[in-house]
Amino acid sequence: MQDTYKHKGMRKQLIQQLRQDTRITNEAIFEAFDNVPRHYFLDLVFVEQAYSNMAFQIGAGQTISHPVTVAFQSQLLEIKRGEKVLEIGTGSGFQTCILCQMGAKVFSIERQKELYDKAKNIVRFFGFNPKILFGDGYKGMPAFAPFDKIIVTCGAPDVPEALITQLKVGGIMVIPVGEGNEQTMKRITKVSENELQIEEFGTFKFVPMLERTVKK
Ligand code: SAH
Repeated sequence: MQDTYKHKGMRKQLIQQLRQDTRITNEAIFEAFDNVPRHYFLDLVFVEQAYSNMAFQIGAGQTISHPVTVAFQSQLLEIKRGEKVLEIGTGSGFQTCILCQMGAKVFSIERQKELYDKAKNIVRFFGFNPKILFGDGYKGMPAFAPFDKIIVTCGAPDVPEALITQLKVGGIMVIPVGEGNEQTMKRITKVSENELQIEEFGTFKFVPMLERTVKK
């Protein structure tokens, strides 16, 4: 795979498109999109469309999220350099790399072995060093808690209790919540040990958050 002038040009166009979305204002997000070439995360057959605002199959029945969804979740998280961020659903590793590029210290969990193996290689290829775990996101990563931020990139039927516990007071979790194939994007701020502030940000379509690991 190469990062050609054509790819770079397409990437600039995608960033222009993201800039037109008034919900996305954090410059660090545009910079990260410029520095993490999305086409490397896709199967060869999709490479030419890598910079259109589309989701694609990444294997094991899973999809890489739409660029605008990655950007929007990153915006809601209010990422600051050096923060500890837990991601549920490593998938292709694209969102993981965007968060790393934004200066976060990233911990990510993937339940599909095949995707976990691939993602570990690609983050290393780009020189990032997140902690990626093959495991069940419902459990979080208690050994590395608490986290400043938590991002869930699969549709959760409800908000997993363990993740609330592993969030710092003052921390933010961004999570699409819903039982069907549509979810409501929620931003949960842990105001105090036993008080949450919940905001809603419209409807999205994610693959479902499922329990237990799957080996291949
Ligand atoms: N952030 C990813 C999105 C991938 S789609 C990207 O940028 O490509 C969501 C991912 O969540 C899938 O890979 C799916 O296998 C994973 N997933 C679903 N349920 C999970 C769980 N309980 N724990 C960890 N990962 C899970």
